[in-house]
Amino acid sequence: MIAEPGTADNLALVRARIAGAARAAGRDPAEVTLVAVSKTKPVALVRPALDAGQRVFGENRVQEAEDKWPALRDRFPGLHLHLIGPLQTNKVTSAVAVCDVIQSVDRPKLARHLARAFDRTGRRPDCLVQVNTGEEPQKAGILPGEADAFLKDCREVYGLPVRGLMCIPPFDEEPALHFALLRDIAARNGLPVLSMGMSDDYETAIRLGATHVRVGTAIFGARPPVKPQS
Ligand SMILES: *Cc1c(COP(=O)(O)O)cnc(C)c1O
Repeated sequence: MIAEPGTADNLALVRARIAGAARAAGRDPAEVTLVAVSKTKPVALVRPALDAGQRVFGENRVQEAEDKWPALRDRFPGLHLHLIGPLQTNKVTSAVAVCDVIQSVDRPKLARHLARAFDRTGRRPDCLVQVNTGEEPQKAGILPGEADAFLKDCREVYGLPVRGLMCIPPFDEEPALHFALLRDIAARNGLPVLSMGMSDDYETAIRLGATHVRVGTAIFGARPPVKPQS
């Protein structure tokens, strides 16, 4: 199978724009990690990114992560896989086995299951708490008003290695307001990692302090449309 033309070029462009946005904000480009979101894309289309040196990837489904990534780890040392989608408790053991970072810790029940899986397996992927900054009923994430208490429980009750926060702003609102809100919650909780910004708004996110941007379409091209969450 021939790789989709342009992936390596797209990747180079995104990297250049990340560096430009960081410098414009007076930040060191090395402070911003590009998470290349490879969900729905087969390995043949991900390969050009690996060949171009990309090592940090994001998947939103545990099953897809398991199908695609373990076989690539041997060939591409230094791979770092982030789970960026909702995590069901019955998938926690698999997620802990296959992922290096879990960006979608969003409820006490999940935190409890993760803590047990960490004890059982000895693996401790870094955790980010997903905040539903737009308070959208259909979207995952802890509400902003409950974030401080949940973060405290994640650390003190469940003992999770929580390193930061993640958000997905409402698609029809100015993302900067949501990025600023996430930054404030992280700052007052002493958290260094901010995962925010996608293909359409990662430069804005970097201006507001993103340490991780999650970019799919701008690197790998459009995905087939998904049915809206109901
Ligand atoms: C799909 C997805 C992305 C990437 O979105 P693009 O618009 O394709 O860059 C980022 N974050 C999450 C949580 C996603 O599910």
